Amino acid sequence: MPDWLALYYREPVELTHGEGRHVWDAEGRRYLDFFGGVLTTMTAHALPEVTKAVAGQAERILHTSTLYLDRHMVELAERIAALSGIPDARVFFTTSGTEANDAALLLATSHRRSNQILAMRNSYHGRSFSAIGVTGNASWSPTSLSPLQTLYVHGGVRSRGPYAHLSDGEFIVACVADLEDVLGQTHGGVAALIAEPVQGVGGFTAPPDGLYAAFREVLDRHGILWISDEVQTGWGRTGDHFWGWQAHAASGPPDLLTFAKGIGNGMSIGGVVARADVMNCLDANSISTFGGSPVTMAAGLANLTYLLEHDLQGNARRVGGLLIERLRAIAAGLPVVREVRGRGLMIGVELVGPDGAPSPDAASLALEHAREQGLLVGKGGREGNVLRLAPPMTLTVAEAEEGASMLEAALRRVQDATG
Ligand code: PLP
Repeated sequence: MPDWLALYYREPVELTHGEGRHVWDAEGRRYLDFFGGVLTTMTAHALPEVTKAVAGQAERILHTSTLYLDRHMVELAERIAALSGIPDARVFFTTSGTEANDAALLLATSHRRSNQILAMRNSYHGRSFSAIGVTGNASWSPTSLSPLQTLYVHGGVRSRGPYAHLSDGEFIVACVADLEDVLGQTHGGVAALIAEPVQGVGGFTAPPDGLYAAFREVLDRHGILWISDEVQTGWGRTGDHFWGWQAHAASGPPDLLTFAKGIGNGMSIGGVVARADVMNCLDANSISTFGGSPVTMAAGLANLTYLLEHDLQGNARRVGGLLIERLRAIAAGLPVVREVRGRGLMIGVELVGPDGAPSPDAASLALEHAREQGLLVGKGGREGNVLRLAPPMTLTVAEAEEGASMLEAALRRVQDATG
């Protein structure tokens, strides 16, 4: 294997096909996919409705570019704009979450004519130069150079920070005070706050409901835009809400919202939704060669239709709730598990060593043992010690039970090995 490939497993797993919530490797082994690709397989692997839409469009024409009308793109844009909750919303399609955030940062900085941005500690927003510039963890950003002036605030990861001991209410008060303090040290003119409602790569950590409502009040006072990065939290994955920002509903919708990952069910779709006055502040902002290309738009439309018609948000709430309960029961007897946390089908399992310190080794071991059981999971967190579970949102109760049992077996082996 080339050493530049950053693969998850000691022995590379080569996936050849998938169906429903399962995938198969080149040796014919079947796995239950508890990471949904990388939260990219939103509904199911090889969902016939999406496959048909992709094949049908591919047979007609692969690419036209945004110079020409594509009805799928217009319909998908209109449906996302209506779902976004942002009044008078406009949509700009990209090919990834990184590009979506890049576009959002470009719009916000242009609208406010400032390159000062607020971001959360422990955040992850992608791999472009500007997205790296708002990523609040050095291990995910290969350079400290940035075209932006970024100010990091508290409110992301909480479990081990200086505010760990605070109640939810006290935490919100402390984070607002921190935000005010950071703003007090600027000359004003900050363009935007960018934040993930639940930190994804950061280990599926959610702030208390209402944090962004409290932030919003401060942001409004300073004329600062709010960008909600919904690349992981969008489309009902968190169960109770269609978008992550809705857990902070008193704040109303953000000014800009970015999406990607699941909407294409594996096809490359990203995008930014913004108020018309923000979106239209740049004239030359309407063209991306591959953003909104017809095959991806046909896939996105079929996938979104399936999601809504089958109430997969409701399924994420119900099945995710049962899964979290079951995993908490398992964790109660396993000191290696510090915490099971999550919302809907976005569940983090945080692992620690015998001394209670974050254990990335335990997480790597758990990943290997889970694979041997026939279960694929993700990994993340500030210290790399969190297993991330985000299966396709069609997950059944029986599959949730099966996955929990496989994970239990893997975690027991980790517990035995680490003491
Ligand atoms: N924003 C968030 C919250 C993400 O989790 C990611 C990717 O993991 C991105 C942005 C970047 O998306 P992409 O990998 O599609 O560029």
